[in-house]
Amino acid sequence: MATVNVIEPSQIEDDTANHFVNSETNPSNCPCGWYIYTSNTCRHRYVEQPHKCGNRRTPSGKIGFCKSPAPRHLIRGTEVNENCKHC
Ligand SMILES: [Zn+2]
Ligand SMILES: [Zn+2]
Repeated sequence: MATVNVIEPSQIEDDTANHFVNSETNPSNCPCGWYIYTSNTCRHRYVEQPHKCGNRRTPSGKIGFCKSPAPRHLIRGTEVNENCKHC
C-alpha cells in the first residue's frame, strides 16, 4: 500500500509547492492552477487550493492565473487530516 502523507489544514498552502505541475497548457509552462486535496478522514474532496505563479496581473493589479480556466491537478500521496466542510 502506498504511504500517504497526512497534513493539517494550516499546512495546505505551503504543501502546494511540493506538488507543482508545470502545465504545458499554461502560456509559459508555469505551475499556475488549482491543486485539489482529498480528506484523509472522510475521503471527500477537501479543498481546491489555487496557486498563481505571479507572472500575470489582472487589470486591477491583483495576481491572476496565467490562463483561464486554470488547469486542475488532483493531488495524490498527500491528504488532509480533517473532514471536508460538508461532513
Ligand atoms: Zn503562471
Ligand atoms: Zn466529507
